[in-house]
Amino acid sequence: MNFTVSDVIVESEIITSFLLTPEAPLKRDFVPGEYLLFESSSDEGDPIRREYSISGVRDGDIRITIKREVAPEQDLPHGVMSTRFHDVVKKGDIVRAAGPMGAFKLDRTSDRPVVLLSGGVGLTPVVAMAHDLAGTSRQTIFIHACENGRVHALGAEMRQLAREHENIVNHFLYRAPTAEDVKGRDYNTEGMISRKLIEDLTPGCDCDFYLCGPGPFMTAMYDMLHDMGVATDRIAYEFFGPATVLRPKTAEPNKAPTPAEGGPTVAFKQSGVQVAWDPAEQNLLEFAEEHGIMVDFSCRAGSCDTCKTRVLKGDVSYPIEPFERPGPGYALLCCCVPDGDLELDI
Ligand SMILES: Cc1cc2nc3c(=O)[nH]c(=O)nc-3n(C[C@H](O)[C@H](O)[C@H](O)COP(=O)(O)OP(=O)(O)OC[C@H]3O[C@@H](n4cnc5c(N)ncnc54)[C@H](O)[C@@H]3O)c2cc1C
Repeated sequence: MNFTVSDVIVESEIITSFLLTPEAPLKRDFVPGEYLLFESSSDEGDPIRREYSISGVRDGDIRITIKREVAPEQDLPHGVMSTRFHDVVKKGDIVRAAGPMGAFKLDRTSDRPVVLLSGGVGLTPVVAMAHDLAGTSRQTIFIHACENGRVHALGAEMRQLAREHENIVNHFLYRAPTAEDVKGRDYNTEGMISRKLIEDLTPGCDCDFYLCGPGPFMTAMYDMLHDMGVATDRIAYEFFGPATVLRPKTAEPNKAPTPAEGGPTVAFKQSGVQVAWDPAEQNLLEFAEEHGIMVDFSCRAGSCDTCKTRVLKGDVSYPIEPFERPGPGYALLCCCVPDGDLELDI
């Protein structure tokens, strides 16, 4: 649907928020952690879709908070959508988006303490979670790491939230504070998130952990939590770039599947692999990877189409509804499971 940009708020040197008024009520209330999928077109007219997490709401408007993605090297292009938002989109403009959607959601049914761990612009979905948790009986510890005060977004807002709600505690880490950054006022610790810091700040392993940040941050946090003894089903995470599946580094790679007796068989034709479907797997993308078959992917959430694959025989069903189901004869592997024996063209 269309959204009108009702305000543009500069949050830091590289991060800006956009308040959006939907033209009609959203199909349902968003759950903190979810995102909207934005659509635009390239200069050549090709569709461009990018996900932006909902970082909050104000007077019924949805807020998204976007980092400007600059080119890693001269001669390469800057990020298409983020640059467009930063340089072109202004108050009063119309933008198009679908949603809310996504699998990274605050579990509101749990009564465990919550630990929110974010790096850089990865704070956007967890800030929405912190707002939802404010004033509840759940102890909430928000640990955020970034470079310094120049790029730190939503810091004042989170400090105010913690002042107003005693169940919220913030801890900000700056990797390289500038001369203007004051310890105790702007940030708490210089450096990176360590195991000791998490152990000191949290009530232990029996918490719900939510992680969002750059790839290396996510891997480091996941491994750290696993080493501390946090159960994997207590760790929820979202990647902002090409997604991957985090698994404990001590896990046995390519574990043998435990197929259901008489369950479906999945044949990967080009790879010459035929295996019994493991009903414990979330989707066919993860199942293929378990068997060493590397499929191209990006979002792993049913919005980018990268893992779209030809189905040669059989059918699939979608426990996770993608943004758009592929046409007949194709499957979006990140969202589907086999519906009987299946042959895929990979
Ligand atoms: C579920 C989800 C939620 C997200 N939420 C947020 C959010 O809340 N806030 C946010 O800021 N982002 C968020 N993202 C990331 C966002 O969707 C975009 O991926 C991000 O803004 C970059 O998109 P872009 O079009 O600007 O860059 P792209 O055009 O996709 O480019 C990405 C990077 O690659 C570089 N690049 C371009 N061409 C080349 C080349 N040939 N070689 C090497 N490098 C190249 C660009 O300079 C840029 O740095 C989210 C992502 C996901 C999956």
